[in-house]
Amino acid sequence: MPTNVYNFGAGPATLPKIVIDKIANRLGNFTDGMSIMEISHRSSAFKDFASQSEKNLRSLLQIDDSYAVLFLQGGATQQFSMVPMNLANQGTVDYLITGAWSKKAADYAAYHSRLNIVADSLDSNYKDVSDPINWTHSKDAEYFYYCANETIHGLEIHQIPSVSVPIVSDMSSTLCTRPIDIEKYSLIFAGAQKNLGIAGLTIVIVKKDLIIGKAKDLPPLMRFDSHHNDKSMLNTSPVFSWYVAGLVFEWILEQGGLDAMSKLNENKASLIYNYIDNSTLYQNHVNPKFRSWVNIPFTMTQDGLEKKFLKMSSDAGFKNLKGHRTVGGMRASVYNAMPIEAITKLITFMEDFENINS
Ligand SMILES: *Cc1c(COP(=O)(O)O)cnc(C)c1O
Repeated sequence: MPTNVYNFGAGPATLPKIVIDKIANRLGNFTDGMSIMEISHRSSAFKDFASQSEKNLRSLLQIDDSYAVLFLQGGATQQFSMVPMNLANQGTVDYLITGAWSKKAADYAAYHSRLNIVADSLDSNYKDVSDPINWTHSKDAEYFYYCANETIHGLEIHQIPSVSVPIVSDMSSTLCTRPIDIEKYSLIFAGAQKNLGIAGLTIVIVKKDLIIGKAKDLPPLMRFDSHHNDKSMLNTSPVFSWYVAGLVFEWILEQGGLDAMSKLNENKASLIYNYIDNSTLYQNHVNPKFRSWVNIPFTMTQDGLEKKFLKMSSDAGFKNLKGHRTVGGMRASVYNAMPIEAITKLITFMEDFENINS
């Protein structure tokens, strides 16, 4: 085994080494000789941890009291249903489709609302977003939905679209990669296993006035207001996943918060894109305006080298560089926890590979 292994997988994704060490050291004894895997979500030790983790997330993203912060299960995919069920009430909803995840979210929304597709990037094979002048908004949308970062296609929307209805955003692969203007959003959700921890936990940040007293006909577990009323402990919470996310929030704060993350991520992304753009072997086809900071897909200008590249890179310790099965090619996912030295080493590896093969 190579001494340094870097996991470039898109999710579940790499965690900060410090967080893994902390978990390992404390695993057997979170409180009173009991492991974090054994204790009740209602124990005071966990409740204290949970409330501190919410405080930390609020401070990282500057979330004020007009928002509820929910720690739920069901993955980001469950939000594809919960969002229209709670916010649309069979009304019209506007979806911007820019890749696989917003496409899926729109398909799910069609079960619970009148779906209007504002624009669809399919015609550019999800490599570009059309000019907002050409978007077709509906007159009476309950909300406007977009995916801030398309994890599979490596397409990121760096500026909040300017619309006049509440904005909902899937930030599964981008939440906490940089500061955001939280007040511009009515609802943000993110599965934790990309940038915030492990699978089993989904964060929902939602304007309280959008959820309180609404959606009375829905089952309790599908309602934002019931989760909010029970402090995300309506049923047994995913204690271990929540714990890991809490440690990740602490780690981000210790690193200098989201300004520090933003600098690091922008720097990592520009190193890779600069290298790819100047190379004759590798290429990235996403419109540079919409290139993702954290999921960087690339292909080769020569046929027949991909398998060799994936095998050699894996042997050298660069794991999971294979692109998503639906798009092929390669993809480097470089979330907060991916250190800059992993990027410089990867680039050196790619250079060597290019030199041998051209
Ligand atoms: C991974 C991902 C999802 C799906 O998350 P699950 O937790 O598997 O439901 C949704 N949206 C985006 C942007 C993702 O990256």
